[in-house]
Amino acid sequence: MPFHAIVGHRRQTALVARALDRGTLPPTLLFAGPMGVGKWRVAVATAQALNCLEPQRSPGEPLAMDACGTCRACERIARGIHVDVIVVEPDEKASIKIDVVRDVLSRTSYRPFEGKRRVVLVRDADTLEPQAQNALLKSLEEPPPATVFIMTTAVPGALLPTVRSRSMMLRFGRLTADEVSAVLVRDHEHTEAEARAVAALADGSVGQALSLASSDVAVLRETALLLLRQTAGRADVQGRLQVAGAVTGGPSKKDRSREEIAVVLRLTASMLRDIEAINSGADPRVLANPIVAADLRAIAGDFAGDRAREAFVAVDRALFALDRNAGPKVVTEWLSMQI
Ligand SMILES: [Zn+2]
Repeated sequence: MPFHAIVGHRRQTALVARALDRGTLPPTLLFAGPMGVGKWRVAVATAQALNCLEPQRSPGEPLAMDACGTCRACERIARGIHVDVIVVEPDEKASIKIDVVRDVLSRTSYRPFEGKRRVVLVRDADTLEPQAQNALLKSLEEPPPATVFIMTTAVPGALLPTVRSRSMMLRFGRLTADEVSAVLVRDHEHTEAEARAVAALADGSVGQALSLASSDVAVLRETALLLLRQTAGRADVQGRLQVAGAVTGGPSKKDRSREEIAVVLRLTASMLRDIEAINSGADPRVLANPIVAADLRAIAGDFAGDRAREAFVAVDRALFALDRNAGPKVVTEWLSMQI
């Protein structure tokens, strides 16, 4: 998918397109930003723009250079079978081992076979084992001829400082709910209504929206309500840990994904806002969760004074920790003690 077809991130794509047009693209790029916002798509689009057989040049436009998206090179890159565009992804244990990196580097010692530039795309670069990162270092420092490295990560801090300092970092933000919804409709066969409903809860991430779409939002909402109900009456430690288990565990035997837990916490935060509104006598029409308004009114008294606000801050901190890869169990147990 060329730059012009990517939803959002226009500042980032324009920056890369301009550098491509001027021939000033640094040989090592690090795309950093939240999971599921489209960093990987931009990385693939960059590989396409570098190797497209009929690149589109429009000097002066924000996208000064872009791939056509339909030529043989573009098509092969999109399918992951272009001989000069090497894709490195974490294995089933969520890590990238040194052998994989060594193999890739041996393939970069020759000039590109059919393309103009060889591109090495590393997905979730934070999963590179430290030895693998060290093996990469020399190539990042003195890239092999005609080779560009593009790494993506949600946690740039997990990379060795030496790797980070040799890369040009481009930061990606979250998409707007409208952008998430547009991608769901265009690329994932959602109806307009479905797309809007999940996009509102997806925190600017298509990846998050997709995992939500496959889970039951009503159940996640029930769990958020349970968390507030169980902690409302100042439950004992045992009761609090139990409800933390309900947040991470869910109704089935399988543990919930990090994304699903984040949604439960965001729903909790939004309900706490509603409780504050109820306690201040606000118009019921301003509530974000009208479907559970009666349940919230029933516990609102327990969250009088500063408690709702303090609980909201605790949920926010928990979400922040979750976003930075803290263990879901530790985070929810901590939270259940704070509310
Ligand atoms: Zn093309």
